[in-house]
Amino acid sequence: MIVGVLVEITNKSVDRVFDYLVPKTLESFVAIGKRVEVPFGNRTLVGFILEIKKDSDVANLKEITKVLDEDVILTKELLELGKYLKKTTLASLISCYQVMLPKGYKASIKNNVNKKYRKVYYLNNYDKKLTAKQEEVVTLFKDKKKLSRKELKDISISILNTLVKNEVLKVKEEEVYRLDYETREKKIRTLTSLQENAVNNILNTDKTVSLLYGVTGSGKTEVYMELIARYLKKGLKSIVLVPEISLTPQLIKRFEERFGNNIALLHSALLDGEKYDEYRRIVKGEVDIVIGARSAVFAPISPLGLIIIDECHSDSYKQDNNPRYNAKEVAFKRAFDNNAKVVLGSATPMLEEYARGLKNIYNLVSLEKRVNGKSLPKVELIDMNKEVGKAKGHFSIPLIDKINKTLEQGEQVILLLNRRGYSSFVTCSNCGETVKCPNCDITLTYHKSSNILRCHYCGYATKYDVTCPKCHEKSLKDLGVGTEKIEEELNKLFPLAKVLRMDVDTTSRKNAHKKIVDTFARGKANILLGTQMVAKGLDFPNVTLVGVINADTSLMLPDFRSSEKTFALLNQVAGRAGRSEKEGTVIFQTFNEENYAIRYAKENDYVAFYKEEMKVRKLMKYPPYYYLVSLNISSKDNKLALIEAKKCEKVCLKYLNKTIILGPSPASIFKKQNIYHYQLILKYQYQDNIYEVLEKLVEYYATINKVNLDVDFNPIHL
Ligand code: ADP
Ligand code: ZN
Repeated sequence: MIVGVLVEITNKSVDRVFDYLVPKTLESFVAIGKRVEVPFGNRTLVGFILEIKKDSDVANLKEITKVLDEDVILTKELLELGKYLKKTTLASLISCYQVMLPKGYKASIKNNVNKKYRKVYYLNNYDKKLTAKQEEVVTLFKDKKKLSRKELKDISISILNTLVKNEVLKVKEEEVYRLDYETREKKIRTLTSLQENAVNNILNTDKTVSLLYGVTGSGKTEVYMELIARYLKKGLKSIVLVPEISLTPQLIKRFEERFGNNIALLHSALLDGEKYDEYRRIVKGEVDIVIGARSAVFAPISPLGLIIIDECHSDSYKQDNNPRYNAKEVAFKRAFDNNAKVVLGSATPMLEEYARGLKNIYNLVSLEKRVNGKSLPKVELIDMNKEVGKAKGHFSIPLIDKINKTLEQGEQVILLLNRRGYSSFVTCSNCGETVKCPNCDITLTYHKSSNILRCHYCGYATKYDVTCPKCHEKSLKDLGVGTEKIEEELNKLFPLAKVLRMDVDTTSRKNAHKKIVDTFARGKANILLGTQMVAKGLDFPNVTLVGVINADTSLMLPDFRSSEKTFALLNQVAGRAGRSEKEGTVIFQTFNEENYAIRYAKENDYVAFYKEEMKVRKLMKYPPYYYLVSLNISSKDNKLALIEAKKCEKVCLKYLNKTIILGPSPASIFKKQNIYHYQLILKYQYQDNIYEVLEKLVEYYATINKVNLDVDFNPIHL
């Protein structure tokens, strides 16, 4: 017997199956989709069996040394999905398989995630007389077949040992799952008639994809849960995808209140061992619902009936390293193959999605009213240009007054400042101008090391000095305020208020996020300040004021989606106010009062924003009117990278005759870990051979050591 094995090395030049002999003793353990240990050169590696065959063209085959799995890891569907990923992202096949699996299930010789065993106790039939203490232990088994050591943690080991010795209890080593579920009181809400209609509409459509466009607080989550329940009745299972940062304890609690522990959770806050166990529960068919971030879309759940993608506009569904897949597209593929349905949900769908809804490619379902019957909170814009001189730090007087009033009434405040991972930008403190590229209408990024302002689109660059190009005052300032600074200001301005800060820095430790949310939910803090984390998925009834310190931050991103992202974020965070009985107020501080993204976010008018932004996209030839591909050419050698980027441009010019080619220009992060990056952007409407041509390019660069080519179809960032 011979097997074809795909080994763990991601290097493109070995991204193919290698043949190995199977020793007689291992033959009965071998199956396609299992992992094996194999000699490879002078190392030992792990790989997936992709083929079983009788013959090989290769002489002197080596033998596999171990079969690692009892169960098949790569099911038939996953095997196919991997191939699909490779075809659509041009990444290596092995990376496509690895990305679908949690640590512990990946092919890796360094794997150190394993099953966990614990002592588990069973109650025997017994006729002995027991002491009171022992009797107590036995009653714990009243309606339980078995109890783990952990569940018996209040009982001393000596009592247990005695009971085992007397054959009252039996003890075994059994596999246990590391993640604990809190048992919760069951809570099922009766749907409003609007929600009920939405559910029926989605159940009855013949379209594969439904777009549930529902304003914040319209009760989308309840609709999802009802759909899942209806599918469960039909014996079909569901996957729920949620952006990592919206996967809050609050949300999980709501699902647990409805479905108990018939849920597996897959997200990055779990420890490797916990994730491994959750995945095992899925593999063993022990759960009907999977809730997780992007990669949960690969959960090998069967039979699959429904995939829900909440906050479908979120960037997080696109992986931004290889393989650069989009979970939404994978969901469509799986739905298509399994005759299942996809529900995309958002208050601010991506333009592409809403456009497809209007064109009836997706089944468009709208929920335009809040469940509580209240109107959406009123938004007030504060023109920060007029506040200059009066403001205290980054707080305008009106915002300070509102915060004071809210605190006096014993209500809570959420404050947003979205400063995450973006290099500084440059704004004039005299006229409010943000310096933009003359060619692209995109803000320039300040590169401190070279003291240059650069356009990340077209490569335009200009030397930075403090003179504003608009008002010519020497007032340009490099703005670099982050949440930490704001926290300091808050503590000075409101010395009696308790402030919680929620951003990447304060939530990196396990459970830190949960702790902050719990503290705030219990009213133990007055102000929750944070990055976009505070905008997503949180539901605090006592929050009546939402303030945005600087509504313009995401407008500054050098990206054609910056307006869309700004609108979505502002809409999202505004939606945190007044979710219960009390009316909410929202304040946006901005230097760009006239900007349409900010204006429509104030009016809470997604459709108007959509129409305006579509005009821009059409004019600028961006999605959804054009498809985009971004090519990133990189090398340690700056000159070589540019030469190769120009070569790529030539190839594209020659073979992609219906495509607009921009660049090469320096990529948005030009120098990354001493590697230089150049970018080509392709825009096209119809170009049948694009995958073919780019695949050839990728294959060519796989053989070149000094240069790397990375292709990103439908990029989320440019
Ligand atoms: P969305 O996901 O659209 O923002 P949610 O599903 O979070 O909205 O609902 C907003 C609030 O309304 C939540 O507190 C939720 O518990 C409550 N809610 C939703 N549907 C109902 C219902 N049918 N009956 C009572 N409360 C509901
Ligand atoms: Zn430009």
